[in-house]
Amino acid sequence: MAPHATPLAASTKAKDYVIATMGSHSALQILKGARDEGMRNLVICKKGSERPYKAYDVADEYLFVDDWKQWDAKIESELIKRNAIIIPHGSFVSYLGHKRVQEMKPMYYGTKEILEWESDRTMEREWLLKAKLLLPRVFKKPEDIDGPVIVKFHGAGGGFGYFVATSPKQFYEVKNRKYPDDNDFVIQEYIVGSPVYVHYFYSPITGELEIMGMDKRYESNADSIGRIRAEDQLAANIFTSYTIVGNFPIVVRESLLPEMFEMGDRVVAESRKLKAGKGLFGPFCLEMIITRKLQMFVFEISARIVAGTNPFIEGSPYTALKYDVPMSTGRRIAREIKQAIEMGRLSEILG
Ligand code: ATP
Repeated sequence: MAPHATPLAASTKAKDYVIATMGSHSALQILKGARDEGMRNLVICKKGSERPYKAYDVADEYLFVDDWKQWDAKIESELIKRNAIIIPHGSFVSYLGHKRVQEMKPMYYGTKEILEWESDRTMEREWLLKAKLLLPRVFKKPEDIDGPVIVKFHGAGGGFGYFVATSPKQFYEVKNRKYPDDNDFVIQEYIVGSPVYVHYFYSPITGELEIMGMDKRYESNADSIGRIRAEDQLAANIFTSYTIVGNFPIVVRESLLPEMFEMGDRVVAESRKLKAGKGLFGPFCLEMIITRKLQMFVFEISARIVAGTNPFIEGSPYTALKYDVPMSTGRRIAREIKQAIEMGRLSEILG
């Protein structure tokens, strides 16, 4: 494709832009969503990982890298030439890191600065506390453990390597045996309840906060331990781990929705007070455990599309209420971008 004549972000025609994303995580629905909204798309693949995009024929164009470390000025200039708008997702942020993302030159959907707030556990906690969300307790040192805790290593993407302990002794047993040299972790109160990941979308264009859907994760081996007898679990000396394998759709009891909307509102409002560019907008997710008393403990925020939206490529029960077409989060992003382009407001949603 020839370099585009239109200066970056100046055209008000959606066909002058390309929706681009990295081939992983939630790329299938992002690419399909762009097409459904009548926009062109592009996927950047690590060589050898392009098969799903080809098999499902969702992409108009491919760019390839040998390795994500090879994400460099050359790739960026290819994207700039095409007037591409990058859609970040979980793999994108975790492979490149928020510092690399900050320096990126092509158009980028979302607020880059917010990624630092979600990836630093201390900053994230400060933000969520200010938004008056209920959070699990954090233990400063292993000696303080006085009940069930979940130990989370930093940068342990997708729950890999997390473990549960109930006493300082048990903590050190696992830590010293499995992670003797890794001291970058947080010890969080383990909340007994149902995990629910609520997918939100906040649009600065319409000024509206939407709940797009909800999921729970399918995790190994947390979701398989219950398949064997308690005696066998003990005999096999299994430690619970949370490596993510997939996602299930969820619908919550309707009476929980008002509070969920308000929690989303407060997180968006507080994000504007952080020193984080335009604050939080677009897709985000509050990851919570709901207890038997229906208290909602939020243990994490993801400030971008989450893979838990993937079961809803054809829309969710919630988006079915609002839209007359199947509305995935990927498609909602494309619609937002298209509307912003046509209204001459694209710069408001670029980071
Ligand atoms: P990602 O960054 O990809 O969202 P992660 O590695 O941060 O994932 P989490 O989603 O934070 O992983 O958690 C993994 C698992 O641990 C989930 O099943 C979640 O429900 C559970 N979990 C996390 N924190 C708590 C907690 N405080 N109490 C009980 N369960 C928890």
